[in-house]
Amino acid sequence: GRVSRSAPLASKLLLLSTLSGGSIVAYSDSNTEVNKKEEQKKKKVVVLGTGWAGISFLKDLDITSYDVQVVSPQNYFAFTPLLPSVTCGTVEARSIVESVRNITKKKNGEIELWEADCFKIDPVNQKVHCRPVFKDDPEASQDFSLGYDYLIVAVGAQVNTFGTPGVRENCHFLKEVEDAQRIRRGVIDCFEKALLPGLTEEQRRRKLHFVIVGGGPTGVEFAAELHDFIREDVTKIYPSVKELVKITLIQSGDHILNSFDERISSFAEQKFLRDGIDVQTGMRVLSVSDKDITVKIKSSGEVVSLPHGLILWSTGVGTRPVISDFMEQVDQGGRRALATNEWLQVKGCENVYAVGDCASIAQRKIKEDIANIFKAADVDNSGTLTMEELRDVVDDILVRYPQVELYLKSKHMRNVNDLLADSEGNERKEVDIEAFKLALSEVDSQMKTLPATAQVAAQQGAYLAKCFNRMEQCKEQPEGPKRFRTGGHHQFRPFQYKHFGQFAPLGGDQAAAELPGDWVSAGKSTQWLWYSVYASKQVSWRTRALVVSDWTRRYIFGRDSSRI
Ligand code: FAD
Repeated sequence: GRVSRSAPLASKLLLLSTLSGGSIVAYSDSNTEVNKKEEQKKKKVVVLGTGWAGISFLKDLDITSYDVQVVSPQNYFAFTPLLPSVTCGTVEARSIVESVRNITKKKNGEIELWEADCFKIDPVNQKVHCRPVFKDDPEASQDFSLGYDYLIVAVGAQVNTFGTPGVRENCHFLKEVEDAQRIRRGVIDCFEKALLPGLTEEQRRRKLHFVIVGGGPTGVEFAAELHDFIREDVTKIYPSVKELVKITLIQSGDHILNSFDERISSFAEQKFLRDGIDVQTGMRVLSVSDKDITVKIKSSGEVVSLPHGLILWSTGVGTRPVISDFMEQVDQGGRRALATNEWLQVKGCENVYAVGDCASIAQRKIKEDIANIFKAADVDNSGTLTMEELRDVVDDILVRYPQVELYLKSKHMRNVNDLLADSEGNERKEVDIEAFKLALSEVDSQMKTLPATAQVAAQQGAYLAKCFNRMEQCKEQPEGPKRFRTGGHHQFRPFQYKHFGQFAPLGGDQAAAELPGDWVSAGKSTQWLWYSVYASKQVSWRTRALVVSDWTRRYIFGRDSSRI
């Protein structure tokens, strides 16, 4: 599994030594000695996972200072935001993946990659136990273990069925590239089956009833992709059954896209209504069989069964077994994700770091911090602040905790700017600190966790790599460079998430976007913004070129419905 950059250098030295009649050999030998000593000194870093967090760490890490080993069951990185586009053939699966070896070969050093699952983390002996993915080859399926000085846990999360009977057996998930490929075949199968002779109209309708459980971004994007596929391609390829197709989106809450601004969820709901996508809110799924999905209508308590041809289950994420086991060992049992401090270190294990969906950064002191910010602003201890002072306070809170605003939005509550505008109407031009704190109090318990998104994962990976790159420098100056000093306890500034907004493609070449500064836009121009942002975010020029050519191909020739 070694990805080596030293071979060209070695051959150059060999050539030079031959040309110089041997004098360079001594130099080469002593150099090897030095290298060997340096190798021995190098700390071992083991990275688990090659998703958003793991790859962003590896891309930014100065690997000349570490002996890096990577364990992942996938030898590639997948651009997950485009997975819904793979389900209907808008984009091909291979266009959104890049080989990890390709990504890391550009680094000036060596990275070892093992295609395996880590099934146990042993923090006491500083080891991880792994199992290769090649289960049917006895020679290549033997368990192995790796020792580490530092461990980076970036294994992501897995689908969450909430223990609902029949979900694992009868639903599709959309988490991995293979899932998207399976869905693509599943969708085409539904149409081919519905066309067969001998079926009643009711049977055909059932085969062409696509049900999506979960009105978050993944469910909504899949519904939009499917609707586009049907409108743009199916009507031409399967004209005889086009009238029988139905898409139903089931959401347990009152609105779809409820982690977005209220204006975006209502735009999406109205668009889906016009498109004929049946959005059913306030419903809880009780069970799923191969033919029906049974749901309970929350308001009336009524239980109904809906026949289906294909179901996508996308209701949020759960914990991977290796993380549950590790959490038990470090007294964190019962949690959804590994609790870390603000420097992304797993609590209780100084040399283990967790990033991305498998981690939950705890900001225990948010409440105290906010109270202290108010206290510091209230210099005359009057319990009231002028508008100007309040503005500074709010700016300070938002810089430190962008989650405050995100959380308020996700709950469709007024955001902090609204609160400020409200206070400005106050004739005394003064704001009661206690009242303002009360307005923020509901936020407190919820805002401690960051959303499970690629944006958070990538920023955490990059932050950690920067810390690792400065580790040596900080050892020489234990207090850290002046600008990083934080009372002598930590050498690095704590991790701070910056929210750059989020997109929701809604089909029909329309998208909605929520951008920093309370800026919301929706429509065709936003779709073009989406195209340019997603093209620019690709991990390599190869995938960028492939994705753009897939989009172009779809415009010219439509989607391919071959079942391969
Ligand atoms: P992942 O990216 O899931 O990577 C986990 C890695 O760990 C993988 O390489 C996996 O193979 C590996 N692994 C798993 N188990 C083990 C093990 N036992 N040992 C070793 N390695 C292991 N976020 C956004 O910000 N914007 C979007 O538009 C967006 N769209 C999305 C669309 C879909 C369909 C999905 C599923 C997610 C989307 N997300 C989006 C969320 C985003 O993909 C995740 O938040 C992100 O992938 C988390 O990164 P991660 O590195 O923690 O985990």
